[in-house]
Amino acid sequence: MISGLSPEAQSDLILSVGTRRARRRLSPIEVAQAIETSLASGSTSQELASVLHLEDPSMLMRFRRLLKLSPEIRHLVDWGQGQSCLSFTVASQIARLVSSKEQQEVTDAALKHGLGKVETIQIIQIRERSGRPIAECVQDVLRMRPQIERRHILIGAITSEKLRIALRQMTQQERNQLLKSAVTSYGPALPPWEGRLGAERFTLVGSDAFGAAVQRLPGGFEDAINAYLEEGMSQRRGGVSNMTPVLIDVSAHGAIMLGDKVTCDGFVFGFPYRVQTHIHEDHMESFNSSKGYQDILMSEATKELLIAELDADIGYRTNIHAIPLGSRYRSEDTEVELLSSGHMVGSAQVAVTISGGMKVGYSGDFNWPLEQVMEVEALVVDSTYGSPNSRREYSPEDVCDRFVDLVLEKVKTCPVLIKAHPGTLQRALELLNGKLACPILASRRLAAEAEVYRRFGYSIGTLIIIDSTEAQLAMKEGRYIRLYGKREIPPSDPSGNTVIVLSAYMTSPNEPLLEFSERSYRIAMPSHADFEGTLEYVKATKATEVVTDNSRGGHAIELAVALKRHLGIEARPSSQAFSRVWGV
Ligand SMILES: [Zn+2]
Ligand SMILES: [Zn+2]
Repeated sequence: MISGLSPEAQSDLILSVGTRRARRRLSPIEVAQAIETSLASGSTSQELASVLHLEDPSMLMRFRRLLKLSPEIRHLVDWGQGQSCLSFTVASQIARLVSSKEQQEVTDAALKHGLGKVETIQIIQIRERSGRPIAECVQDVLRMRPQIERRHILIGAITSEKLRIALRQMTQQERNQLLKSAVTSYGPALPPWEGRLGAERFTLVGSDAFGAAVQRLPGGFEDAINAYLEEGMSQRRGGVSNMTPVLIDVSAHGAIMLGDKVTCDGFVFGFPYRVQTHIHEDHMESFNSSKGYQDILMSEATKELLIAELDADIGYRTNIHAIPLGSRYRSEDTEVELLSSGHMVGSAQVAVTISGGMKVGYSGDFNWPLEQVMEVEALVVDSTYGSPNSRREYSPEDVCDRFVDLVLEKVKTCPVLIKAHPGTLQRALELLNGKLACPILASRRLAAEAEVYRRFGYSIGTLIIIDSTEAQLAMKEGRYIRLYGKREIPPSDPSGNTVIVLSAYMTSPNEPLLEFSERSYRIAMPSHADFEGTLEYVKATKATEVVTDNSRGGHAIELAVALKRHLGIEARPSSQAFSRVWGV
């Protein structure tokens, strides 16, 4: 027990000190304040140091020294280095300066020129020894640099008293997030920038182009930013809970955001986790950025399919975690559960328990009916078949039978070429298994992928690799099936063959099979829930707030309307706040 602090404040403090976590709950200043509070109410330094697992109490001194910083720069202090903040070490050097005017001058220089720890120490030493003005000391140190880069810094005040009061209730991290989301959601597209928000003022840092763009904001940048913050704050209050604002939404680039730590199927800078629901292309956006910046969670099958497809580094990276469907991933502040979504092998529904215990989720692409549906309070749902016109009036079994009959009939007279997306193609192979008297030819990559599907329970017969002698022989005889997967294109003149394209998409409500000619067909193999199935799914999740994904070309608006009308659920299409800012 630490005296003077509530149990929550204590756990925040413990989780913010002596860890290397990228995101700690409290900023260094907030830690210093908590330490100060506790000491004032009777804790000793030894007690505090031992509860916080600090080897010696001198570390407490380093924190407390931060409180010597003038209030104007406190919101800038963070754990690591960034364009718009002062690192812990730089800040504790600045705190050595007694005059708050000088602290401010060094801070400005640190942001404008990205000063490191050593440079900051040098500036302060020159100042102490020579007594010359700070500006000259800064110039001395900068002259030692091979090249000088400049950043543009804008500092503005929070003009409304009401807003200042509300900001004081928030942590540094929450304020920074509010600034980012408010400017991104309500402002125009801006060149890349970083920013910090205190209760009294904000600081924005970016290139000259950013500086110029911000100066052009209507009514001047200070008023404009204040207006965005007011908007952002009212949104926040309108959220699910007043205490912990829960954001579920979809970013400009199709990343599903569940709370403030987890994205699905896309990348947002600052979110430490990404869940990859399945391997379809429209869900792979910015996967490389995620590899560089996030921990990526996915089912075992999804990971193996990505290895088969992209090979390279996926299997070796320590930030990619395979989680069996039906199980959970836990870290200090987040819990993620994956359940099968029935859409293809390895595809997952994602449930995230955010701090405070609330559960939010993303359906992923899903089929219906499902054996297991996650239960969540707030849900982002796929809207592929969100329109009342997307009712399927035939049974999946019927489509499968017609597909098999068509293949068996055509292959009697000519080769059959089958083209489909991952998942759909392997589903088709399962249907054909054991029914064919001729070989199935495929690329080496498709054969490797089939191996993954087999491991996860698909019954798929042998595939003959296209450049083998066996394949050459079959081609000469003219009796075979040839598969075409992702980015593999059937010959432009397929004369003499029958081409069947399997689509996951519904072409018409009552006719799954489209005949273009005797030699060309398109069949809609269901892998998504239809409209009714989508409503039933949402109902089964027991969600009371739903965001319909409007970024992947479905029927998000119609679905939101239908959910309100049929289930009486609070529903809205996702916002995709437009932004050119990297990583949003
Ligand atoms: Zn899909
Ligand atoms: Zn999709």
